[in-house]
Amino acid sequence: MSASDHDHDHDPAHGDHGHAPPGHAPHGHTHDAAPTAIEARVKSIEALLVAKGYVDPAALDVFIDTYEHRVGPQNGARVVARAWTDPAFLERLRLDASKAIAELGYEGRQGEHMVAVENTAAVHNLVVCTLCSCYPWPLLGLPPVWYKSPPYRSRAVIEPRAVLREFGVHLDDTVEIRVWDSTAEIRYLVIPRRPSGTEDLTEEALAALVTRDSMIGAGLARDPAAASA
Ligand code: FE
Repeated sequence: MSASDHDHDHDPAHGDHGHAPPGHAPHGHTHDAAPTAIEARVKSIEALLVAKGYVDPAALDVFIDTYEHRVGPQNGARVVARAWTDPAFLERLRLDASKAIAELGYEGRQGEHMVAVENTAAVHNLVVCTLCSCYPWPLLGLPPVWYKSPPYRSRAVIEPRAVLREFGVHLDDTVEIRVWDSTAEIRYLVIPRRPSGTEDLTEEALAALVTRDSMIGAGLARDPAAASA
């Protein structure tokens, strides 16, 4: 896969099962098509782990249900909308993002040491994990395939402006791009710029403008006129 294949909603590794967490596509699903090599491998490993008593299939179901239905970018979007509308919350987010985010009930694995980075007219932040795929699960769910791809992980650092252009983000040359490398310890949440013309929107309506990509820095928040069209 090349970095230009930024196909945000389709996971080629999982055929039409784009919403299944990576690595868990075969579990509990009925497949019309033959499983891909990776699906077959996951299924074999899962069967072995279950047979040896290391994994409880019911626990896997809970895990999958959680990341398919309950944890996803809608959580991060609520944090962003709160930051846009509540200056005191924004201040707490700047001081201790994990603690501020926990106020909204989002905490847990892969979200322990959060840092919020704010986009401004002068600075655009982009998040990557050059080593693997570290990502703030409680806020954004599981990472998209492109985030885990070697081209994104290297090019986001080498030529972030070109990568952003491929995502449709065209920034003035005067805008500084800061690239943040996630680690096993620190995860970043980008606070995108609040779109203009949103002064009268409710927090909920604002949250609907906040996309997953905008919280990675690979996108911008939606324009309200375009979003309602
Ligand atoms: Fe990683």
